[in-house]
Amino acid sequence: MAASIPAANGANRTGTKGVIATLDYVKKFAGTTVLIKLGGAALQDEKLVEELCDDLSLIRSVGVNIVLVHGGGPSINQELTLRGITWEFVDGQRVTTPEMMNVIEMTLCGFVNRRMVRTLNNSGVRAVGISGTDASTLFCKKQNAKLGQVGEVTKVNTSYINAILNTQDNGIGTIPVIAPVGVGKNGEAYNINADWAAVRIAEALGIKKVLFLTDQEGILDASMKLIQELDAGELEALIETGIVKGGMLAKVRTVLHALRHGVNDVHILNARRPHGLIEELFTDRGVGTVCRLRSRGGLASPTTAKETLNAQV
Ligand code: ADP
Ligand code: MG
Repeated sequence: MAASIPAANGANRTGTKGVIATLDYVKKFAGTTVLIKLGGAALQDEKLVEELCDDLSLIRSVGVNIVLVHGGGPSINQELTLRGITWEFVDGQRVTTPEMMNVIEMTLCGFVNRRMVRTLNNSGVRAVGISGTDASTLFCKKQNAKLGQVGEVTKVNTSYINAILNTQDNGIGTIPVIAPVGVGKNGEAYNINADWAAVRIAEALGIKKVLFLTDQEGILDASMKLIQELDAGELEALIETGIVKGGMLAKVRTVLHALRHGVNDVHILNARRPHGLIEELFTDRGVGTVCRLRSRGGLASPTTAKETLNAQV
């Protein structure tokens, strides 16, 4: 696995050295829990979902606990279109009417979540699908009147997620697969941005590493080049200058929240990069964009946010 993947210093870690480096990473992460958020675009591709599930199965088999949160935007778009329902996005969030909420809940919890769970179980790991409404896991209030049924998470009840994580099969725990639908004080359903659901769950569980799988190589600069490493100040500057927009703007806001609430590393990487998750977790090479509260430096970064901003002014 690591043998063919170049290390951060550009050299190939081959043979025994590569195996030892990988084993070191396995030792470091075994017994810890990582949260992986899978974006909607990747979920459209059945073969890609199968490949990702195989990787999740491998990661799980070396003792890394996984909490999976998924989106489902494109599937929701398809269902709304079939029903002749139109929609709009404000700041990367879908304005949600009660009629749309029914379609969103049905699609996320009924189709997207079920398929993910079936595919994971077929890959040899135990996975149990829930939505944030199960056991009131994601308790919500209305985020903003103009966004309709979009929920802001006010409380994460972690007991059911923990019960799933601790349910063992041959000594290996189970992966909770969570659809980003929440519940309010009158039992009403809320559409939660999946990135927000992910970071709020990570915060509540004390998870230190969050990985966002998306449809870009990571966060891109103004010339569409990948930014390899960002700290909180640089992330804020990307928002202020409008370099991140739409879905990535919403994501970056959640990344900042995560970093300020106990998460050490947030990675944003392309779901289509073959074995990107394994590369990120178990090799020297960072893929995509890594975000930390304060930069550690050290990563070979062809473009940092600072350079991007300096180039703009
Ligand atoms: P996900 O399903 O992973 O949440 P989104 O569609 O919500 O994905 O957000 C990712 C999208 O954000 C990209 O496809 C891209 O169109 C957009 N985007 C805007 N600004 C940037 C940026 N600076 N870097 C990367 N993506 C960006
Ligand atoms: Mg998104």
